[in-house]
Amino acid sequence: MKAVLKQFIKPALVSLASRVGPHARTGKHPRLWLLMYHRILPNHDERYGQEEPGMLVRPETLEMHIQEMKRQFDLMPFAEWVGLSQAGLPVPKRACAITFDDGWLDNYEYAFPVLRAHSAPATLFAVAEKIGTDFQFWPNILAVLLLHGAKKELELHPLLQAYVQNLTDKVTADQVAEVIKHLKDHSDVDIFAALEQIGWRDLCEKYAGGMSPALMSWDQLREMQQSGLVDIGSHTCTHRRLTDALSPAELEYEIIHSKDVLERRLQSSVDLFCFPNGDYNDLALSLVKQHYRASVTTQRGINRTDNLNIHELTRIGLHDEVSSSRRLFRARLSGWV
Ligand SMILES: [Zn+2]
Repeated sequence: MKAVLKQFIKPALVSLASRVGPHARTGKHPRLWLLMYHRILPNHDERYGQEEPGMLVRPETLEMHIQEMKRQFDLMPFAEWVGLSQAGLPVPKRACAITFDDGWLDNYEYAFPVLRAHSAPATLFAVAEKIGTDFQFWPNILAVLLLHGAKKELELHPLLQAYVQNLTDKVTADQVAEVIKHLKDHSDVDIFAALEQIGWRDLCEKYAGGMSPALMSWDQLREMQQSGLVDIGSHTCTHRRLTDALSPAELEYEIIHSKDVLERRLQSSVDLFCFPNGDYNDLALSLVKQHYRASVTTQRGINRTDNLNIHELTRIGLHDEVSSSRRLFRARLSGWV
């Protein structure tokens, strides 16, 4: 059944969605498409092969997306849309805004030139205390170690062993994505503790010659902001998921302190927030409501003004596999596939 779905039904749905999805019509109520990007890398970059496919968009794909967005929508800064909406002013019938999560160095290297070339506005959600440091996200550490053959060493830790012991010796990117998905049952603190115990830095050095920096510097972030094209929002202090695994004090720290750090460093107000991994509990949501004008999740969907939840806005996640052609991109914008 799954194979049939893949071979026949999916392409038919993509074709239908690209032509008659909600993006192709003007509805009664204004709508907002929020597009979610993570990493922007050309496939000749060595970082491309070490990332989960679901995180990657090539610069030429981003460029095509922006052209397509400009043709089909009012492409505008997310903050401007929020401002209009909250002031009770009219918003475009079909608005679209670009968001980048985390603050990856490659966003500065590869996305920023594309944004500039097309005068395209965007919002970047930065991990406040990790910008300008040698921080690595745990999924990337795991990916580098597994793809470079350090499976045996990962098996030495009981928490990791359960997830990697059945992998073949030559681990694929899809297998890595599976491991990451299942490991999310554990807290970020526990996963990092396990990686510390097996000495991940030394292992990365030994197997892969180290890891290239994940995040951009403060100067790079400031340069993007000062271009006038990129607004900065908060993506917490440390990128821990905002679940019951965190104490109320930790939730406050992630949500409130990250705003302070960014505002002090960037000398401007920070009013937008993005939940890491799209996770939040009731307290996290209420703190975000108190301190930010709007926030975004990772739930897929198109936001409608007649049913707007400004602190749980939905987005359309983009990666190359689902959006590398105009037809695929349009189908993705339908919110159906
Ligand atoms: Zn993130």
